[in-house]
Formats: sequence, structure tokens, C-alpha cells
Amino acid sequence: MSALPSYKEIIELLKKGATIEAQEKIMELREKALELQEENLRLREELTKLQKAIDLEKTLSFDGAVYWMNKGETKQGPYCPKCHDTKALLVHLHKDGPGWFCYECTIHFGPHSSLVM
Ligand SMILES: [Zn+2]
Repeated sequence: MSALPSYKEIIELLKKGATIEAQEKIMELREKALELQEENLRLREELTKLQKAIDLEKTLSFDGAVYWMNKGETKQGPYCPKCHDTKALLVHLHKDGPGWFCYECTIHFGPHSSLVM
């Protein structure tokens, strides 16, 4: 992004009577302001997304085999560690014998952990 036309620059043009050039600089300034507004909105959205990801990450715990989500006194899950670690997805695991199975990555997670019920 190029530098913004300065207020001083526009005043100087107006003092010289160069109103067309001054108007062009004002238009340029408006365009830049719009670009900055759009960029600001995009960055805010990105920040919100990242904040949500951080908040979610704080509720997750890894028991050595799978992820669990802590919700106050209770916990939800388990969730697939591969899908979470590689694709940032929270995929519920399904009971599969003594362990767990992920339908997304089709991996079986054995009952390595004492927390596995
Ligand atoms: Zn998975």
C-alpha cells in the first residue's frame, strides 16, 4: 500500500489554487480510507477466529491418547488427536472395542490411557 496523501500536502495545493489536484488527493485519501476499513474488518474477523481457537484450546486436555473438552465439572469427548493436531478439527471418536475410532481419519486409538472408559 502506497503512502497516504497528507493533509499538509492537500492544504498546500489549495493555497496554490490547484483545486483539481487537491480534489484528486482527497479522492485518493477516501479510497485509502476505504481500503483501510476493509483491511481492519478482515483483521478483526481473523482476530476473532484466532481468539475462539485459543479459547477452545484452553478447554482441551490430552490424556496421552485422545483429547477431552473440559466443561466445568464434566468433560466431553473424546476427540481425535490426529484430526485436531493436523487439521484443527474437533472430531468425536466412537467407541470401538476397548478403544476409539475416528470416522474422519479412520484411525483406531487404543485404550492406552487410564482415562479411557
Ligand atoms: Zn481423526
